[in-house]
Amino acid sequence: MIYKRSSELFASAQKVIPGGVNSPVRAFKAVGGDPVFIKEAKGAYLYDEDGNQLVDYINSWGPLILGHAHQPVIDALVERAKKGTSFGTPTELETKIADLAVQMVPNIDKIRMVNSGTEACMSAVRLARGFSGKEKIIKFAGCYHGHSDSFLIQAGSGAVTFGTPNSPGVTQGTAKDTLLATYNNLESVQQLIDANKGEIACLIIEPVPGNMGCIPPKEGFLEGLRELCDANDILLIFDEVMTGFRLAQGGVQQRLDVNADIVCFGKVIGGGLPVGAFAARNEIMDYLAPVGPVYQAGTLSGNPLAMAAGLAMLEELSERSEIYDSIEEKTEYLHKGMEKALKANDVVHTINRMGSMISVHFAEEPVVNFDSAAAAASNGKFNKFFHGLLENGIYIAPSAFETWFITEALSYSDLDKTIAAVENVAKDL
Ligand code: PMP
Repeated sequence: MIYKRSSELFASAQKVIPGGVNSPVRAFKAVGGDPVFIKEAKGAYLYDEDGNQLVDYINSWGPLILGHAHQPVIDALVERAKKGTSFGTPTELETKIADLAVQMVPNIDKIRMVNSGTEACMSAVRLARGFSGKEKIIKFAGCYHGHSDSFLIQAGSGAVTFGTPNSPGVTQGTAKDTLLATYNNLESVQQLIDANKGEIACLIIEPVPGNMGCIPPKEGFLEGLRELCDANDILLIFDEVMTGFRLAQGGVQQRLDVNADIVCFGKVIGGGLPVGAFAARNEIMDYLAPVGPVYQAGTLSGNPLAMAAGLAMLEELSERSEIYDSIEEKTEYLHKGMEKALKANDVVHTINRMGSMISVHFAEEPVVNFDSAAAAASNGKFNKFFHGLLENGIYIAPSAFETWFITEALSYSDLDKTIAAVENVAKDL
């Protein structure tokens, strides 16, 4: 495939945008080469500036469960845009989407809309600190919760891809309040609790991480965290920015039947527009301004365009629960097909999957936490795999520390095309 115009556009972009991109992982720095510039998208496909059609497994990093330019979402947006794009006042739409989210997600009474996943997680932690009167937080190596200061301590996604787990600009003062645990390892959490008795406000986690590839929790891990949090008066925050409304209508809380105290959302809840949200039971949410003392705000928060797109998306997901079985079956089909293709070519690998999230790691050892994900990524095979797939018209995330997202728009023939591409690429791995 030819990517000439994309390379030209990238050269122009680099003159006026740092690194040519507005979010680092898009620059292909980890895998090498120039990023693909996309012109438009429909359903399962991206169409780039050189006229190539690509089968998309990123789907805007997760939100597009129903595929690109999904008609009901586009119709809702167009209708809404004609009536004005932002008022900075309350609108009925905000209550409608909040009502629906509260019905779909277990264990929450109220939800506050923000503009990104970063804002959602940052605000959730402030709320937890304000509510508990404590300052320290526990996060897990390899979990990404956006780019606010407290979280840039061994984060996943672009933050590890770029080797800046502790970004300059994050003060020592902030860093010292973030304690690092190991995913799938309760003992590591217990040790931090023992060493910081009575000081920990909350524990934030991607309950099923997607930012070190997809890593399913070991049996009992999330339940164990719930018990540790209860026993030590620590608020449990599930960052469901990727998993919310994706792994089940009610996210991981519903799918794995573990309750969090605060839940963060992003992406999906805006149907592809810039939205995030955080939610909890009344007692906690009423600690927020203007009712309570914890301040949090946003000029464009809950703006009508984002709410209209999000509502159209959530309505369809709530009415068509069969979508969840369908995307899971597609993911299983892809898993089996890729496994067969890699095995047939003696490529050492591990495939992780839960629901419609899946990732391929080039190591024999199980990938269960950040260290094992990093070990699998260190042999350079992922980069060859990525470029091989791209040459075959398959677009996966340009980093070994990401998950693939399966959408309802992908057909079985798209999946077969992908499996055939994997078989092709496997011959050279
Ligand atoms: N949490 C998780 C789990 C995420 O995957 C992301 C983004 N990939 C974020 C938070 C941050 O969201 P945003 O990029 O919208 O700020």
